[in-house]
Amino acid sequence: MSHKKCQSISCDVASCSFNDTLENSCTLSAIKVTPKMNCATEDIDESMCASYKSRALVDR
Ligand code: SF4
Repeated sequence: MSHKKCQSISCDVASCSFNDTLENSCTLSAIKVTPKMNCATEDIDESMCASYKSRALVDR
């Protein structure tokens, strides 16, 4: 069973060019999440969005 059609990605990372800051959501249909190197906190900071693209770099 696939839920892909009704998935949404909530995200508060306003500095990312894919972020809809009004909706606090990601405008991509899918993202890649990767483990953070050398991090073993057993907490949420062990993962990061690998699809991130800096809004500042895109606006240049
Ligand atoms: S690409 Fe990642 S960091 Fe950027 S808005 Fe989407 S979920 Fe957030």
